[in-house]
Amino acid sequence: MIEKIVIANRGEIALRVLRACQALGIRTVAVHSTVDRNLKHVAMADESVCIGPAAAAHSYLNVPAIIAAAEVTDAQAIHPGYGFLAENADFAERVERSGFIFIGPKADTIRLMGDKVSAIKAMREAGVPCVPGSGDPLGDDPEENAAIARKIGYPVIIKAAGGGGGKGMRVVHTEMALHNGVTMTRSEALAAFGNGAVYLEKYLETPRHVEIQVLADNHGNAIHLGERDCSMQRRHQKVVEEAPAPGISVEQRERIGAVCVEACKRIGYRGAGTFEFLYERGEFYFIEMNTRIQVEHPVTELITGIDLVTEQIRVANGLPLRIKQEDVRFNGHAIECRINAEDSDTFMPSPGMVHRFHAPGGPGIRVDTHLYDGYKIPPNYDAMVAKVIAHGPDRATAIARMRVALSELVVEGVKTNTALQQRNMVDQMFGVGGANIHYLERRLAQERDNAKGK
Ligand code: ADP
Repeated sequence: MIEKIVIANRGEIALRVLRACQALGIRTVAVHSTVDRNLKHVAMADESVCIGPAAAAHSYLNVPAIIAAAEVTDAQAIHPGYGFLAENADFAERVERSGFIFIGPKADTIRLMGDKVSAIKAMREAGVPCVPGSGDPLGDDPEENAAIARKIGYPVIIKAAGGGGGKGMRVVHTEMALHNGVTMTRSEALAAFGNGAVYLEKYLETPRHVEIQVLADNHGNAIHLGERDCSMQRRHQKVVEEAPAPGISVEQRERIGAVCVEACKRIGYRGAGTFEFLYERGEFYFIEMNTRIQVEHPVTELITGIDLVTEQIRVANGLPLRIKQEDVRFNGHAIECRINAEDSDTFMPSPGMVHRFHAPGGPGIRVDTHLYDGYKIPPNYDAMVAKVIAHGPDRATAIARMRVALSELVVEGVKTNTALQQRNMVDQMFGVGGANIHYLERRLAQERDNAKGK
């Protein structure tokens, strides 16, 4: 059994993993960069190892340093969190080759799902509905590509096979713009992801982002934990997430959930994972799979009562799933607001000293954050510094509780997007539920125009 885990991440997710380990009686090793010595989980961990300088490329992405940390501390397993090396198949492989347990799926599964083209192919074969598209990567012949796009029908979206984090995508409305778009996306993808393969998908104009959480073990068992709606996005990045998705019926959930469970069994999936779909006019279209724990996992935890990180660790221990599909119950509604250290209007990152921090509380409120009074947010990493999650018996109560929670939240010394989240919680369209993925961005543009007009 795993007795000691290296947490190969930072910030709130490192703390989240540490808490799960502590509750399980598993000892922890925090690995951190030189600017991260003062992270909360580093202080709480049983041991800590500095793995390199501030630049992530030399610390949180430094594979030999992380594996060496596991060796010198006699740990048995490595939890990658999300981001950094979480979906790096070579890392997972090297972890296992070095004799450690990678808390996640097999390296081959990460590789298969990490390339969006091979992922879509595997999902098509598994009977998962996908967005109409080229299927294969595009070649260099503009005529051939134009024929493919014509067949799909404009607008189309050019996507990088190796893309992630909302990057490596370009929408094209006319044949005239296609060739240039392909060339540009290809060179951007090559620079950003080291992989110039791009493919085409039909650009859906008014979809919602609805995703299915799954859990699978090493013994051929898999279950789904329902869906989350993550349609409130800016620049293809999630801002607010909730579960369940407004307006999705029990039958729809069971149908798409069963499709995902079947796909898990077919590809030999292991651990926690998410099937991401676009949802339009009652139909689901697979876009990609995330082979890791996700930022928004707490909303699923709150409505199911299942601790996803604990289940990840149990599966990594080789234990069979202890939850059966029929045991999964959905209780009420949960919403998560991501709190970023950034300007509420310009979205410029705002690192620096947090002079005063106060977390909200009360019934149904959970706050996942590594912030504390006097903590200095370094400029080197993601701007997300906290997640406020509200749970209630119904959606209206969850929203009301979130409104109160956001009004209680105090983060002094740096700018945050709290004001934007407060506007989101009183937004009429959000209140109705079911806004599409373009809604927030369009509203923000409108707000900017109104501000200029004044
Ligand atoms: P990433 O891996 O960068 O997160 P995804 O493939 O998951 O990329 O897409 C991220 C977001 O981009 C989606 O949530 C959606 O907002 C938008 N998107 C992706 N594919 C399409 C599409 N075919 N039509 C419309 N929007 C899309």
